Amino acid sequence: MRGLKLGAMVAALVAASLPAMAETTVLNHVTVIDGTGAAAKPDSAVVMTDGKITYVGPSAGLKVPQGTRVADLPGKFVMPGLIDSHVHVGMMRDVTQDVKFYDRANVEADLKTYAAYGVTAVQVAGTDKDVIFDVRKDLRAGRPKMARIFTSGQGMVAKGGYGGLYGLNVPISTPEEARKSVDEQAAKGVDLIKLWIDDERKMIPVKMSYPVTKAIIDQAHKHKLKVWAHVYYLADAKELVRQGVDGFAHIVRDQAVDKELTDMMKAKGTWQIASTLSREIVYSMAVMPWINDPFFTRGVTPGTLTALRGPAREKAVMLGAIRFPGLPYEKRLFADMGRTVVQAMDNYEAMIKAGVKTGMGTDSGPNGRFPGFNAHEELAMEVMAGRTPMDAIKSATSDNAAWLGDKSIGSIQTGKWADLVVLDEDPLADIRNTKSISAVYVAGNSVPTVWQTCRGRPSNACTGGWKDRSPTPY
Ligand SMILES: [Zn+2]
Repeated sequence: MRGLKLGAMVAALVAASLPAMAETTVLNHVTVIDGTGAAAKPDSAVVMTDGKITYVGPSAGLKVPQGTRVADLPGKFVMPGLIDSHVHVGMMRDVTQDVKFYDRANVEADLKTYAAYGVTAVQVAGTDKDVIFDVRKDLRAGRPKMARIFTSGQGMVAKGGYGGLYGLNVPISTPEEARKSVDEQAAKGVDLIKLWIDDERKMIPVKMSYPVTKAIIDQAHKHKLKVWAHVYYLADAKELVRQGVDGFAHIVRDQAVDKELTDMMKAKGTWQIASTLSREIVYSMAVMPWINDPFFTRGVTPGTLTALRGPAREKAVMLGAIRFPGLPYEKRLFADMGRTVVQAMDNYEAMIKAGVKTGMGTDSGPNGRFPGFNAHEELAMEVMAGRTPMDAIKSATSDNAAWLGDKSIGSIQTGKWADLVVLDEDPLADIRNTKSISAVYVAGNSVPTVWQTCRGRPSNACTGGWKDRSPTPY
């Protein structure tokens, strides 16, 4: 005991005698949008010391030692790094999804792309290989230079049913198998448990049964792990809320949500943690309106751009037929997507009006949904569905952090990690201004922004910045 105390005293003395060793960066004369929903505060300063926020308040009250680097940024806006609470990482090469592409390098490339777009943390939805635990360990041990991760490991998929990454998730069909699978994931150290209950618009004859979902939820709760579920049908959403599910990874899309569901969710504190509005809309468009926007093109590989600009995608969306690996069913789902988008937007609006707890999540990562880029589309769609820009930002920052139970991120407050996005223009005046990214900090580290990025190419191969954008909305 005595030795330990002495060690701690020596450490404290060393720390006290070396203040000059601290790495301090100051953003001064900025407008702070702190992510809690509190009013924006002009003429503020944010001090980052060794990756943490050590002061946020009026510039007039700023006191820093002589020699400290102070960036005077009048006219700029600072908000917390965005958190995307539904992503998949490491599974793509251009537009091809395959478990064989999943490795640490591909995961980290995605996490850097997220950070470039100001998304400084992501929650992965049950399609991770075990190397994710090494990645997460290193991110949590130090001051990362890419997005932080929260992982569901390998999520729960029904045998013969929908979900997961083909070749990775081990399907289950009984409550016993479900409990064993949850135990295995808990032993690996997952942050939460994901399950899929869907039959892709009745095109797959098997759907996870309610006894299996109940077993997953009960077993996860024994491990003190939250459960979040991919749902599509209103009836499944209601049953899962009754069973005690903690959150939904998508909004209900088969029909309008009703008061019975929203009342139950409020009573039980169930989260609509991701609504994936930006996921639904990509499948309704044969040609993506942002296909030549540098905010988009900088963050995706040249192979992705070539494929998206070619005739195959247009044909697939127009004719509606695609085939998924491992499933013997050809799916004609694109034809239904226009209706789905409208239903998703209406149901999201209903959740907000009812006062259900909501986060922000995109389902980006798989083909056609783009890391980082989709988060900005999602925020814009939240506002289209009736939220204020302030509430949309809150959903993607402090609300998502509250769901994750992580008190160290999600708002600009003293003691939290300095995960910050600096913007040239006011996102409260127009939510699309979240794209005017001037700087991104992860744990106080300045990382390349999307405007300094050119994924899969030399950095000077991309042109076009926020100031060069098309004056018409895209
Ligand atoms: Zn997903």
